[in-house]
Amino acid sequence: MIANRIGRLELSPTLRINAKARAMQAEGIDVIDFSVGEPDFPTPEIIKEAGIKAINDNFTGYTANDGIPELKEAIRARLKNDHGVDYHSREIIVSSGAKHSLYNLFVSILNRDEEVIIPAPYWVSYPQMVLMVKGKPVIVPTREENGFRLTPEELKANINFNTKAVIINNPSNPTGSAYSREELKEICEIAVAEGLIIVADEIYEKVVYDGYSFTSIASLGDNIREKTVIINGVSKAYSMTGWRIGYAAGPRDIISAMGIIQSHSTSNANSIAQKAAAEALRGHQDEINRMVSEFQTRRNYMLNKMRRIPDISCYEPQGAFYLFPNFSAYYNTECGGMKIRNSYGLAYYLLKEAAVALVPGSAFGAEDNIRLSYATSMDKIEEGTDRIIEAVAKLKESPKYKRVALQNFATDPRGAVATEMNVSVEERDALVQEAEAALPYDRYFEWNANINGIIIQLRTNNPHLYDFWVENWYPAQLESDLEPHGIIYAVEGVPGRKPYGYYCPEMRTAILFNSSYYGQVRSWALGMVAQASERLLDVHGLRAACLDYDGSGLAIIGPKGLGRGTLCLRLLEDDDARFLTNDWVFVRYRGSEAVADAPERKFYFKTSVTKNFPRFERIFDRSKCENVVTKRSEWTNTKELTDECPLDLGEPYCYWGSKESRALVDAAWINGPQNYTKRSRLKTVIMLTCDPNGPAVEKLSADEALDYITEGKYRVPTGVGMGPFKSQPFFNPYMMTSSVDQEDLQRRNFHQLFRVARAYKINVAAIPPEALKARVRELL
Ligand code: PMP
Repeated sequence: MIANRIGRLELSPTLRINAKARAMQAEGIDVIDFSVGEPDFPTPEIIKEAGIKAINDNFTGYTANDGIPELKEAIRARLKNDHGVDYHSREIIVSSGAKHSLYNLFVSILNRDEEVIIPAPYWVSYPQMVLMVKGKPVIVPTREENGFRLTPEELKANINFNTKAVIINNPSNPTGSAYSREELKEICEIAVAEGLIIVADEIYEKVVYDGYSFTSIASLGDNIREKTVIINGVSKAYSMTGWRIGYAAGPRDIISAMGIIQSHSTSNANSIAQKAAAEALRGHQDEINRMVSEFQTRRNYMLNKMRRIPDISCYEPQGAFYLFPNFSAYYNTECGGMKIRNSYGLAYYLLKEAAVALVPGSAFGAEDNIRLSYATSMDKIEEGTDRIIEAVAKLKESPKYKRVALQNFATDPRGAVATEMNVSVEERDALVQEAEAALPYDRYFEWNANINGIIIQLRTNNPHLYDFWVENWYPAQLESDLEPHGIIYAVEGVPGRKPYGYYCPEMRTAILFNSSYYGQVRSWALGMVAQASERLLDVHGLRAACLDYDGSGLAIIGPKGLGRGTLCLRLLEDDDARFLTNDWVFVRYRGSEAVADAPERKFYFKTSVTKNFPRFERIFDRSKCENVVTKRSEWTNTKELTDECPLDLGEPYCYWGSKESRALVDAAWINGPQNYTKRSRLKTVIMLTCDPNGPAVEKLSADEALDYITEGKYRVPTGVGMGPFKSQPFFNPYMMTSSVDQEDLQRRNFHQLFRVARAYKINVAAIPPEALKARVRELL
């Protein structure tokens, strides 16, 4: 399985946009690509020849781990000639690209949780690299009016005891902003005074405009040089992206650590490319000037063109080959049903509408902007910018799609954890002691829920669980005097414990360690109450979606995956149907009546229902939510994940992207207060089944129904679709434990149910989904 650390990482958004653009190109669409991060010029002939010569000379074996002397000498000479700084060859390492040097550097210098200050907008890989080595990226937003440059105050305000390094990318990808010598010096003096390592990514040093004079941070003085690691490479200046040669120059101990890491991961950079890179750095630098002057022409053209678009601002870059315009004035607009809420939405719209590929600013930590690369031909720039202007002009303000502040909590872990269900009283006592030791008095929440007359107490240090618990249930009276019938401990931060659950049926105590997933706490509460109320109150806990038709109740029972919830919501579309519950009722049998009560104050809904019932989006917008997906990488409903992913359309979140995503919904919001009831008398029970050979609808006698629902007679597919099967008695996954006693009680209760309510088997394999509701209505 994939390691945890990868869970927080995403594929580079640039690559995702590229992939989409290529897919469109394959369909014959003429996509103009402004997403590229490399010069569109070929590698100069003389450099290629050096590579070919290396092959012909059989220079194709391993080389020195940290780079061939010839290349290191060329790097040394460049640093000396261009910036007047002396580096010993042991202070230089050659890697497979500047990206690789950066990664080696972070592996070398960062301990767990050490912080790296990253001015935003940042190059996409910085925060991800820091995360990969368990460091902490500290993103410091810069301002367009300051030329997207980090100010001394912004730097100072973000330094603390844990700060290890600061990254200065000059000139910057994506903004093209560049620092003056004085600005650099002021910032670096602060960093040095605070003992920080300065990561100086100078890969765009040669690509600068308007006579901007580049200063390497290493040249700012010995004190600064001692704390600086220069990162550079041949990708941008010599059009050598694919050759993969980069380098670092810095303090000997750091460079040596990077060498050790490199020796165990990649060994030396490509031998042939090293020869070519040496030629590039050593040879004439005229090609660079030609390329840069071409870039400058394109920059001027593109900048003027973009600035014609109303309501945007576009910073004039001094370096690199990107524009980074601010398009936030166009958020909350739409065209032809495509709505734009953020930079991703805009990038997606421009790709679909204008066939122009560019990178959303969110990738660089700047949601208001998009990045356009002008490393493409003038013809393409003319055509592409025309297309953007035309597409943007079509955008109309969309009052319907105002941004909402989603009340969402991402749980850790995302779903239910394994639970040991039959813990002895002695084990329970020890576990309770452990749980209580981890519950500090100043972060302790306790609340008694009255769940159909049974009191369950939650004891937790997790504000989210407490919040959902209080929201979900009716309160118990005089809670301080009540001895609860059952207790749930849900404790986070228990040392040495994996997320795990325990249940002691004898003491009705459940203990959840190191998990904040409310779904599990709720299931336990219902299971514990069912167990207690069956024994103590002669009440039947029934897992069913229920509706009421003028006092007559309908219960829909069915295993996971057969569409119980969807059927319930479809039936609710009719005016005469009233909502009772989506999941659970407690039933009391009185003579010829089965009185069903909904125990929940708010209903725990799968937010994925919005896929079939879009109106729920508006309801969930104002509900408390758990695990709503806010990034494409968080999708767990991967079967649904397509190119038309709603997050790509600019949604700030998506309700149907995760199986574990829930909202606590007020019942009255579902169909209005008049279409909601807390109690009904069950007259009809529908049991959903999936049997390709069975009849569509079957009426069952009380005995047949009982047989069917009891273990052994009834088999359910474990996934959606057919097989493999497992048997699940009483359709009740909330049964905490099963004993002969308890099964007798279940059988007795269901027997009573089928005495008073008609039972039908409805076969979803024999009825098309759109006809299901009508077939059910026929039975009522
Ligand atoms: N730093 C920055 C700011 C970059 O833009 C890039 C390339 N996009 C790199 C480093 C990595 O360059 P290389 O091809 O040498 O790995």
